[in-house]
Amino acid sequence: MLTKANDMWYSEYHDYDVKFSTEITEVFLQEQTPFQYLQMLKSDTFGTFMTLDGYIQLTEMDEFVYHDMISHPALAVNPSIKRVLIIGGGDGGTAREVARYKHISKLDMVEIDGAVVDACIKYMPTTSSVLTNEPRLNLIIGDGLAFVRDAPDNSYDLILVDSTDPFGPGEDLFTVEFYKNCSRVLSEDGILINQHEGAFYEGDVLQMKKAHTKIKEVFTIARVYGFNIPTYASGYWYFGFASKKYDPISDLKADKWAEFGLDTKYYNTELHKGAFALPNYVKKILESV
Ligand code: SAM
Repeated sequence: MLTKANDMWYSEYHDYDVKFSTEITEVFLQEQTPFQYLQMLKSDTFGTFMTLDGYIQLTEMDEFVYHDMISHPALAVNPSIKRVLIIGGGDGGTAREVARYKHISKLDMVEIDGAVVDACIKYMPTTSSVLTNEPRLNLIIGDGLAFVRDAPDNSYDLILVDSTDPFGPGEDLFTVEFYKNCSRVLSEDGILINQHEGAFYEGDVLQMKKAHTKIKEVFTIARVYGFNIPTYASGYWYFGFASKKYDPISDLKADKWAEFGLDTKYYNTELHKGAFALPNYVKKILESV
């Protein structure tokens, strides 16, 4: 029987009895940072990928999906956004997409773990080059919760919470206190995009319910949209779209967004409408909170 020479695999649990695995061709880095366990690995299919505390954060192969969908929907609803705050996002993928809007004047990014930035600059240039070559980017190594707590009122038009899941350093980014401070820091037509987890496996559903309960308490408009990403649990993941003023569908400005002339690999304004059209079982989960 043919066996592979290396036969080395990376595996992670997507549920207590469900694993996702990919064969590894290279191990670039494995280190315990002051915040989390960081791995930079490589597979034939997914290319170079980063894991934190045993969960894939991004891969060269499918990061375009996640970074398109965290960045572009808000700019298609409010094309006048000028001041953006990214929380987390140490790999640079979200900053890369936001920096493609030349009219954006302020781009602050607060990443708690400098080791993530260093590792991605070294091993993941497809997402991280913006971290060293974008003059508008103000990269702060610090805790997003404290940063937002101390930020002045009305200092941003868009906050993108590109964090890890709600445990470890990311846990504090899923609290009512955090969302209340985001609302205070956002302008009257501000938009918050946050991690809304998954709707298939029980543990992810619990996190989705928790996030939605808290966001609905703070924002008048709290919608959820999904996207297909092979390396996340069940291959389908969700973001939250929260706003004081704009509805992501009725206020979509598809023509204005088209004028930016961005060539995106995943996002378009037709898909935008579909992403917010949720399956009945997901609607039921969100209506139950
Ligand atoms: N999931 C994204 C993707 O698929 O491309 C990548 C997420 S990014 C790597 C998540 C980042 O959030 C990590 O680098 C982590 O260090 C950061 N983070 C977690 N908690 C944070 C906090 N409280 N403040 C700032 N950054 C935080």
